[in-house]
Amino acid sequence: MTISREGIDPPLWLLAEVTYRCPLHCVFCYNPVDYAKQHKELTTDEWLSVLNQGREMGAAQLGLSGGEPLLRDDLEVIVEEGRKLGYYINLITSGIGLSETRIKDLKEAGVDHIQLSFQDSTREMNDFLSSTKTFDLKNKVARLIKKYEYPMVLNCVLHKLNIDHIEEILSMAESMGAEYVELANTQFYSWASLNKKQLMPTKTQLEKAEFVTQKFRDRLGNKMKIYFVMPDYYSTRPKKCMNGWGNVFVTVQADGTVLPCHVASMLPNIEFENIKSTSLESIWYDSSSFNLFRGDSWMKEPCKTCPEKEKDLGGCRCQAYMLAGDPTLADPVCDKSPHHHIVKQVVKDAENFLPEEKPIIFRTDSESRRLITEKNAGSLDIEESRLFEDNVVASSDKSRVGSI
Ligand code: SF4
Ligand code: SF4
Repeated sequence: MTISREGIDPPLWLLAEVTYRCPLHCVFCYNPVDYAKQHKELTTDEWLSVLNQGREMGAAQLGLSGGEPLLRDDLEVIVEEGRKLGYYINLITSGIGLSETRIKDLKEAGVDHIQLSFQDSTREMNDFLSSTKTFDLKNKVARLIKKYEYPMVLNCVLHKLNIDHIEEILSMAESMGAEYVELANTQFYSWASLNKKQLMPTKTQLEKAEFVTQKFRDRLGNKMKIYFVMPDYYSTRPKKCMNGWGNVFVTVQADGTVLPCHVASMLPNIEFENIKSTSLESIWYDSSSFNLFRGDSWMKEPCKTCPEKEKDLGGCRCQAYMLAGDPTLADPVCDKSPHHHIVKQVVKDAENFLPEEKPIIFRTDSESRRLITEKNAGSLDIEESRLFEDNVVASSDKSRVGSI
């Protein structure tokens, strides 16, 4: 049954961030910088209930991500329920923990699609960027994905430190028999925002990468489909973020907080509700958080009277907050925004950045705790401090983050 109310369509995509635990420490990680807050992950039964509620509302695509979703040893149970309900199930993984037994069990349980991430084509850079020795393991997992007849979908986040290896990354994907390659330039949220100076590519790097990508596309055509996502700092119009706030996507965080996008928890003065106390249906249709940026009545100038507003809906609310301090403003990527100069300055600075200027920050539990403490002490700069939820408290359990 599909429920549709007052002109609001049901969600199509349910993203379940089943855990924030992860063996990797990626410098561009999209998890909230304050993920080491006090929280408990949803139990198996609570996740099964989320899946049932989403499907009843009409969601058809289920993304299982994290952290590393394979760290949940009930993942097969969650997948089985998803299959029973009729979802198309996409597992988004670093591959760590995907043994042959596990992939076999997950295939039987009903995973339709596995998206495997690589950090680079070289062992050195892959292992440096994730702060782990995982390159060989990922190659092994890539072979298992082929063996179990999944379409090979490789994802590599691009940035200043690996974008010059694009030819090698694409050659690696080709030799692995990848059908799809997603070269997603870093979008500067969460940990990537903390490391923006170190990761922002130059214009010359981007142009070269696009050129090389096109050469591969011309040669390989549909045999290996390549998606190249530009960093939006190099555009003059913002993206239609999440295809509209509360329009298509719903994210459930590891602790059950329900969001219109996976980083929205940092927005100030918004109470995002939790699946433990409110139904998914009620959150999607009735909550103030999901209705806040639906439509265009919230817009201020220049978006309010802009002839292009239907195209991008004013861009990303989180980017407006991160860069301009107010989520109701135009996304500063837009050159009509009075804050566009901030974006231009970052792009300009990318030409001259020296790595020794600022140490890179790896996504670790201890760094997340340190950052929460520094935020609460008021010692982060203003843009960094905007990456945190209101009143967040670091977990006191030093042994693990987010136990069930
Ligand atoms: S981006 Fe890296 S550190 Fe973050 S969840 Fe994914 S694999 Fe883990
Ligand atoms: S002014 Fe606002 S609505 Fe118009 S193009 Fe820019 S971001 Fe989009």
